[in-house]
Amino acid sequence: MLRITLAAVAATLTLTLAACGGSTSTSGEADGPTVVVTTTQVGDFTRSVAGDRATVVQILDPNTDAHDFEPSSDDAKAVASADLVIVNGIGLDGWMTDLHRSSGSNATIVVATEGIMPRAGDDGSPDGDPHVWMDPRHARTMVNRIADALAEADPDDADAYRAAAAEYEGRIAALDTELEKLVSSVPADRRRIVTDHDAFGYLTEHYRIRSIGTIIPSISTGAEPNAKDMTALAQTVRREGVRVIFPEAALDPALARSLATDAGATVGPELYADSLGPADGPAGTYLDMMRHNVSAMVDGMRAG
Ligand SMILES: [Zn+2]
Repeated sequence: MLRITLAAVAATLTLTLAACGGSTSTSGEADGPTVVVTTTQVGDFTRSVAGDRATVVQILDPNTDAHDFEPSSDDAKAVASADLVIVNGIGLDGWMTDLHRSSGSNATIVVATEGIMPRAGDDGSPDGDPHVWMDPRHARTMVNRIADALAEADPDDADAYRAAAAEYEGRIAALDTELEKLVSSVPADRRRIVTDHDAFGYLTEHYRIRSIGTIIPSISTGAEPNAKDMTALAQTVRREGVRVIFPEAALDPALARSLATDAGATVGPELYADSLGPADGPAGTYLDMMRHNVSAMVDGMRAG
């Protein structure tokens, strides 16, 4: 009986969340192609390349969990009238396949991460680690893939898309150099962090930071840590002398707080993992998100 009641409550919650989520945001003008994008990162890349030459409709809101998303009927309508659909791929936004089919859309689906060899996945992410944009070199590959897709959908503006992509790529490369220098200012034996879910593998590998553990033991956000894992992680944090635990902006900070208490550490600023933040915050764009995350990590590593 209890099980039935809980199932009913869960079903109601899912419906409510589905009704609240998926408000699409639109930018650009009506003249060029209409491009539907899934994640906030792919949205930012696409807007940076498209400028006002295309209408970009982004499905995910800032600070939403991309791994666990229920599209709404408005999302289906947006996909139905799209000329082009751009997804992250590697299983992060696999829900687009069903949405595209059920909407009756004729739009081509372009996978922005096509051609990138992903890091190994786990049970929850069997296709590989989808958080590829955390490595700026991969972000540049995604930007070029998006520029090619826009140029094909709108050949009259092909040169403008390619020029915008080249300009934006230069900004990513410059930021990468700046962040590389920032991380290098931390002694190598202090370059280690603990984060919420396992979303920073590309970032830590690229900047040679050691991830000594994650609170949610998974590349996706679906897994739950057990008490034994949390105790072991608290011991590791103490042994390594890590002073700061980083919560994620899109997740409940309760577990990060509890780990910090158990390990005698403090809770650091929120990191942005699956999603950019709102436009008026510290991580409203991809470039700001990368600068915010790496700067926060560097401050935390310097503290202990
Ligand atoms: Zn994630």
